[in-house]
Amino acid sequence: MLIAGAGMAGLVCAARARELGLQPSVVEKGTRAGGSMLLSSGVAWRHLEWDDFRAECPGGDDALQRLIWERVDDALAWLVSLGAEPVWQDTENPRTTGKRFDPRALTELLARDVELGTPIPADAEAPLVLATGGFGKRLAAERGLLLRANPWSDGGGFDLARGRGAAVTGGMEEFYGRAMPAPPARIREEDFVPLSQLYGRWARVFSEDGDDVTPAHVSWSENDLAQAIGPRAWYVLDDEGLAHARARVDAARAAGGTLVDPRELPFDTPPDARVAVHVVWKTSGYELREQDGDVPSVGSEIEQDGQRLVVTKVGPSPLPGDTRACAYLAR
Ligand SMILES: Cc1cc2nc3c(=O)[nH]c(=O)nc-3n(C[C@H](O)[C@H](O)[C@H](O)COP(=O)(O)OP(=O)(O)OC[C@H]3O[C@@H](n4cnc5c(N)ncnc54)[C@H](O)[C@@H]3O)c2cc1C
Repeated sequence: MLIAGAGMAGLVCAARARELGLQPSVVEKGTRAGGSMLLSSGVAWRHLEWDDFRAECPGGDDALQRLIWERVDDALAWLVSLGAEPVWQDTENPRTTGKRFDPRALTELLARDVELGTPIPADAEAPLVLATGGFGKRLAAERGLLLRANPWSDGGGFDLARGRGAAVTGGMEEFYGRAMPAPPARIREEDFVPLSQLYGRWARVFSEDGDDVTPAHVSWSENDLAQAIGPRAWYVLDDEGLAHARARVDAARAAGGTLVDPRELPFDTPPDARVAVHVVWKTSGYELREQDGDVPSVGSEIEQDGQRLVVTKVGPSPLPGDTRACAYLAR
């Protein structure tokens, strides 16, 4: 049995297969096991109420969602029976239940005999489990997004399955995303969780043009907010909002993000607004272009696609692990 991908899905699949007496081989394209789970908060959870689950993920497949909702508790108990030690025995959210694990410890526990640096062979035959993740890398490249996920998941298994006649789900345009501090904030892989600006539900949200685009309802996960609003936005907080957001706002500041007094913005904000944080969303939040040569100096003009752009800042690349300099351009 061949399992492609040593993320959470592939690793638990291999553990279960061993339990059933099989001898699976696990091939992993990247240089480490753990996939996106390794970069995550490690909270494996479900909604407590079925109706809440459906209300927050209405586009999902009803039967698949039911499977998760009914089986997650037993699955977590199974994981604990393998030796996984929960960091939390339950979530801190009154609307969900689940456990939090230390991603590194979980990876070490599960990753056995993984062949690293090995992509799934194009001619792989059944029995074959495709656990190669989504296509986060491809989506990010297509849309000019910062990739907040495992860097090797570019849809290799997805393409292989499609090539052999697999159908796709309805969620092809959606991704699991977070609002992050806008450039010039520097975001390293280990900052994905602490730098996520997960307090949009306490903020007034303004577009860059000053339109108040605060949604009437934001789910607690704020994934809907990250999908819905673009391109960049300002989170404007009053005292109460700031009390909820303090640690993440401080983290954004420490990472070099842009925080201003709301009165400095070129549009009206509520009179009790205390701070405005510049966040980046999706699609055209910002666009990354790679170019050889020297870094242009601040103030110099550059032509891109027939447009004249000015270099407003030169700083480190916002991409995780990227040591190159980055010139920030504006019209
Ligand atoms: C910052 C962050 C925080 C998160 N927090 C949470 C959370 O708290 N709770 C939660 O439930 N979810 C969370 N998630 C989402 C969750 O981590 C992922 O949904 C989950 O880890 C996906 O697991 P996977 O095994 O399906 O895919 P992946 O993690 O993408 O793993 C796929 C593996 O396959 C490998 N691979 C890719 N292509 C090939 C190929 N062609 N051949 C061989 N191998 C290949 C990849 O390198 C990778 O190791 C978070 C994600 C991130 C990025």
